[in-house]
Amino acid sequence: MKIYKVGGAVRDSLMGVKSSDNDWVAVGSSPEEMVSNGFKPIGKDFPVFLHPETNEEYALARTEKKTGTGYGGFTFYYGEDVTLEEDLSRRDFTINALYYCPKTKKIIGHKDGMSDIHKKSIVSIGDPKKRFSEDPVRSLRAIRFSNKLKFKIDTKIKDAIYEKGHLLSSISNARIFDEFCKMFLNGMAEKNFNKLNSFGLSKFLITTEPDQNEFTSKLITEALRNTDKRLINNQSVTPGFLLAALLWPQLIEKCSTKGEINLRKFFRSMDPILRSQQRITAIPRKFHSYIKDIWVLQLKLHSRIGKQPYKTLKHPRFRAAYDFMLIREKSSGETKSLGKWWTNFQKNDENLKKSLIGSLKEKSQQESFKTFGFSQELR
Ligand code: ATP
Ligand code: MG
Repeated sequence: MKIYKVGGAVRDSLMGVKSSDNDWVAVGSSPEEMVSNGFKPIGKDFPVFLHPETNEEYALARTEKKTGTGYGGFTFYYGEDVTLEEDLSRRDFTINALYYCPKTKKIIGHKDGMSDIHKKSIVSIGDPKKRFSEDPVRSLRAIRFSNKLKFKIDTKIKDAIYEKGHLLSSISNARIFDEFCKMFLNGMAEKNFNKLNSFGLSKFLITTEPDQNEFTSKLITEALRNTDKRLINNQSVTPGFLLAALLWPQLIEKCSTKGEINLRKFFRSMDPILRSQQRITAIPRKFHSYIKDIWVLQLKLHSRIGKQPYKTLKHPRFRAAYDFMLIREKSSGETKSLGKWWTNFQKNDENLKKSLIGSLKEKSQQESFKTFGFSQELR
């Protein structure tokens, strides 16, 4: 058998970009031979194995045939007789069909792979309209790679995205959730969202309509920009936080009238909003309560009477909720009051805390505490 490093790892190393994982392919081997070499089988549909030491993924060279509709309708053929040339024709783009042999230290593969890397161009292997109907996720991949590598998307691919992008609605929510994470938690969230939107595809990843009003589009931008910044600063990012932020405009849209919030509607709307997002991207269970905590804490961050702010500060999700409140504040353009108050309240200074609460008492005599939120977000 021959082993090659393939796909993103080869492409990214040629471009001097950090790769997310290493993928390998074994040509001229069989499941039995892989197992006898200590590889652990993991693939459900086709033979993929984990290396006994590195735990990296090794796939047997295979061919794919479209036999039905949707992404599921594929049959695979793998065997010792499958050649590298056959394996490469199932891959999506020429730049992803390069194979590096660690023994010879040579790169072989698709005849245009190298030149398309030099041309900085994403080109489909075969007719993109046909390939994107076979697997619509390729539209998302083209967009993602073009931003990550600063490559242009070939015109034929652009046409295919416009024509076949709508087929993304047939992809399972689990697979779209994976793509959601790759798209928005890899340091290119803002750019990826803008490009997705320019192709009319953002609705396949998030149920919030970005252009419904100015606050919504600003909030989406700020939340994505914040995610990108956190990654630059080596801070953690989670899909839960991002979903809480991206879905927030729908929540307040459902429960606010004339600058006031209806609490009953607020609590009642949380689950339906999560459920409708679930239909397009699966949301792992552990994030449901995380998202709802962040939402409910937005109310708590607003009411700062008596012991409440001390309780809020102790909440395990306080930090995430505070970070999100700053994003809301920034998106609304009102950055003088609530965020500053909480920034100060977190300081380890009991007198400052007391005087912050005291200053609110005076204010509350002048203002109604029924109003919630920032004027730009409430209609
Ligand atoms: P990244 O890991 O940065 O997302 P990648 O290109 O390595 O990029 P993987 O999902 O790791 O993407 O897949 C490895 C390789 O498998 C790809 O480079 C490509 O050759 C092939 N591949 C992956 N997904 C598809 C697909 N949907 N259609 C065709 N080929 C694919
Ligand atoms: Mg990869």
